[in-house]
Order: sequence, then structure tokens, then C-alpha cells
Amino acid sequence: MKGELSVSIVIPVFNEAENLTELIGRCLKACESMDNPCEIIMVDDGSTDSSEDKIVAAVRMNPGTLKGVFLNKNYGQHSAIMAGFEQAKGDVIVTLDADLQNPPEEIPNLVEQIKLGYDVVGSVRENRQDTLFRKISSFIINKTIQKVTGVMMNDYGCMLRAYKKHIIDAVLNCPERSTFIPVLANNFAKSTTEIIVKHEERHGGDSKYSLLKLISLQFDLLTCMTTFPLRLLSLIGGIISFFGVGFGIFLVAMRIVFGSVWAANGVFTLFAVLFILIGAQFIALGLLGEYLGRVYNDVRARPRYYIHHIIGKEEKQSTAKDTDPKIINKTGCGC
Ligand code: UDP
Ligand code: MG
Repeated sequence: MKGELSVSIVIPVFNEAENLTELIGRCLKACESMDNPCEIIMVDDGSTDSSEDKIVAAVRMNPGTLKGVFLNKNYGQHSAIMAGFEQAKGDVIVTLDADLQNPPEEIPNLVEQIKLGYDVVGSVRENRQDTLFRKISSFIINKTIQKVTGVMMNDYGCMLRAYKKHIIDAVLNCPERSTFIPVLANNFAKSTTEIIVKHEERHGGDSKYSLLKLISLQFDLLTCMTTFPLRLLSLIGGIISFFGVGFGIFLVAMRIVFGSVWAANGVFTLFAVLFILIGAQFIALGLLGEYLGRVYNDVRARPRYYIHHIIGKEEKQSTAKDTDPKIINKTGCGC
């Protein structure tokens, strides 16, 4: 007898033909080992190798369990995952990379944690098999996210994660284009946890992230998390203008007291004017930053609030347990 919670596994695929046979085999085995009905959604993110053919063949061999979603061109890992989310029907949605760096055998462990009542289950890569550069940049980024969001997850970069369906519905309700799913999803979670998972070297092919793509991803992550960098303009602008105006006044005062010889015959006065102007410019930039931050927040149109669950009158109508918010959650309108 299969358990009640159904599981959708969403896998973005970009030129991963070498890994697909093993990946699908191991995912199917992981599904069989669980007590839950499973579907595996492979999202082909505009691959130019034989990934599409491999997915088509696998779906034909496993109808009902495997689903293929084919994007017309390459949109990037997170957009591909979003496309998979739209097709996912499970109560629990698991994301996983296609290169077998995240062992599919860990999926049942993630689902177990969701059954304990957590909204999001992340994973921490044990003995991470990546370059030193990737490890150091991840360390800095994870610490920054922890500080800014206050959510103490240790490894945001690992995409082996499980989410309850209501979290994914909320994520899909966010129309923003550039996003970083683990951070966005955590916005809507009440309880999160992490488990330690094995990490392997990429089985076939190379990382699909060039340095430029990686930098662009880090900016997605930063901007999806906070508008603080824009606000920083105001802060830096305020400090610089304070010193600029202060120094300008000091130079003018010294010029009056000690005469034009002290002020290098007008050169210092010119500097004073310059500092005052630079200060004014930074204040203006800061103001622009404040407006831009607000415009960005509005354009992004994230829900203004997210109701995790309601108790009271409706409770009688629903059969949901207190720990199961999926039936009565609502996403607030950001308009
Ligand atoms: N991926 C994708 N579209 C892209 C880049 C990557 O769908 O434009 C997929 C890729 O096939 C893999 C996952 O995202 O399943 C993670 O990519 P990769 O392993 O290259 O990233 P890394 O492990 O180097 O961070
Ligand atoms: Mg990888």
C-alpha cells in the first residue's frame, strides 16, 4: 500500500546526455524504495546534445512515472526548475541536479523530514567535491544570506531540496524573472531544516556555469534576497556628503581666518566647493536608490504577506492537521 504524500522530483537538464541513463535509473530506484507515489519531471533547458532523445526514450519506457518538459532554448537552471514546478502535482516537490553530484538515494531522507512537518528541507553537502574557488565563494554567500535573511541554513547552493506543495505554489505566484529558488522559497517557509547529504564529483561533462554565468547567478541571488545594496547608496552617500560638506566648511573657515596664502591662493576653496558638490551628488544617488528599491519591490510583486495557516472557524471544515497548512493557506496580493 502506497503512502499518502505524493512526490514530484524536478530535474533541470542542460546537455547532460552522458548522465541521464544512470540518473533516471537511480531516481526510479529511489522512488521504488519509498512508500509514496512518485513522478519524475525532467526539464530539458534547450540542450543541444542528445539529452532530448534520451528523455523521450525514458518517458516512453516509464509512462506515468516520467514526464519530459522541453524548453525551446536555454533559459537557465532556475527558470527550468520553475517550468518543472508548474507541471508538478506532488504534495512534496524535490529538486535535484542532473549531473549526479547530488545522489538520488538521498531523496527518501528529504521526504522523511517533510513528513515530520517541515516546510522546506535543505541539504548540506558533506565533503563537497567542487573547486576551491566554488567552495570559498559559497562560504561567503551562505554567511551573507544567513545574516540578511536570518534563516540559518548552511548550504543554499545545494539544489537537492524538498518543499511542501504550498511553498512551491507561493513561489510560482512570484512573477519575478531573476530569482534564486532556495532563497525565494524560504521566504514562505515557517519551519525549515537541513540534512547532511553525500556529494559526488560530476559524473559526465563539465559544469554548465562559466565564470560569467556564475557571477550573474550570484547577482540573481543577491537581488532576489534584498534591496540593501541600493539602500547602501543612501548610506554611503550620506556619510560621504557629511564629510564632504564638513570638509568644505572647514576649508572656507580656514581660508577666512588664515587668508588666501594658507588656502594656496584659492585652490583649497575650489576643493571645498568640489567636496560639497560630490556630497550633494551622493545624496541624490542615494535618493534615486531609495526610489529604485521601492520600484523594484513593486515590479517584483511578491506577496505582501503569506499566511501559513489559519485556525478557527475554517478548521472545522477542513480535515487538515495543525501541522498541515496546505489546505487553507493563502497568498496575499501584492497589489
Ligand atoms: N542547468 C540547466 N540550465 C543551465 C545550466 C545548468 O538546466 O543553463 C542544469 C544542469 O544540467 C544541472 C544543474 O542545472 O542539472 C546544475 O548545473 P551544474 O552541475 O553545471 O552546476 P554546478 O554543479 O557547477 O553548480
Ligand atoms: Mg553540478
